[in-house]
This record gives sequence, structure tokens and C-alpha cells, in this order.
Amino acid sequence: MYVPGHIALGYFAASLTGRATGTRKRLLYVWFFSMLPDVDLLLPFLDHRGATHSLAAALALAALTFYRRDLLPYAAAYASHILVGDLVTGGSRLLWPLSDRVMGLDLLGQPSLTEAAVEILLFAAMIRSPRFKKEWAKERGNNAIDPAMNLSWLSFPPTSSMSFSLHTSGLECMRQK
Ligand SMILES: [Zn+2]
Repeated sequence: MYVPGHIALGYFAASLTGRATGTRKRLLYVWFFSMLPDVDLLLPFLDHRGATHSLAAALALAALTFYRRDLLPYAAAYASHILVGDLVTGGSRLLWPLSDRVMGLDLLGQPSLTEAAVEILLFAAMIRSPRFKKEWAKERGNNAIDPAMNLSWLSFPPTSSMSFSLHTSGLECMRQK
């Protein structure tokens, strides 16, 4: 999955968790944690969809929430990347460091038109939801404009193509192993 799908899934996971546990969240942090597993694309010593995409990493972050309850929505956003986003688009080494086996459902294929359509729908559902608009306006102050305008940089071709090529080369490396 790419940036729009991950940040939308992360937002929904963080919102549900925040509501269920009565914890607040900041949108910027939610998006940061939604994308954090993909830091492995930028660090040459890490395999893509390895350590940062493992259950161990998700559980380590979940364990921190015992001490920092306010991290709950962010832990959910992180987990959504691994357990939903990348699970339906290929898979990850979920059992790292115990096993290097790639586990996933590969329901949508990557890259594929179906995946692109699903990501666009998820992203649209996020920015059109009344709750999101309220949260966005609150974080932007009283001068908030339409979130669709603010977030349009995500579809900016260089950003998208960089994300695409990073993911594709990362996935290719993973398949070759
Ligand atoms: Zn990923």
C-alpha cells in the first residue's frame, strides 16, 4: 500500500482506538506513525517489510502504551500499516526475527488498478468524514480551508512517483530473497 491508503487506514484505526479508550490524538502524529514502518525504505541496513513491519515492532509499541496511554491511537495507526495495509497488498515478514517468511493475503496485488482505486476511496472517505473535517479545522485553527486542498500535495506527481518507485524497488528486493 502507498501513502494515501496508509494514512487513511491509520486515521481510522487511531480514531476508533481514541474513541474506545478516551485518548486524544494529533493528526500529524497519526500520519507519522501510519507511515513509520516504511522508514525501512530510507535506511539501507533494514530490509523492506522486515523488522519495522513485524508483530514484534507492533507489540513493542503496544507495550509502551502501558506507560504512555496517550500513545494508544498512534500504536493503532502503526499496527494498521502492518496488519491491514501491507497485509492485503503482498505481505510482510510478520514473524521477524523468528522467521523470514513473507506472510500476507495479497488480495489487491501491488501495484494494481484495484489497489489504486481502494486507496483513493479510503483517502476520500477520510477527508470527507465530518469528524475529520472538525479535527482538521481544530488543528489548523480558525482559518481552516477544505482539507482536500491542504492534502492535495499527496497527489503531487513527484511525491507519488517517489513513493511508488521506493515501494516497487523495495518489493522487488523482497521478492528476490
Ligand atoms: Zn509498509
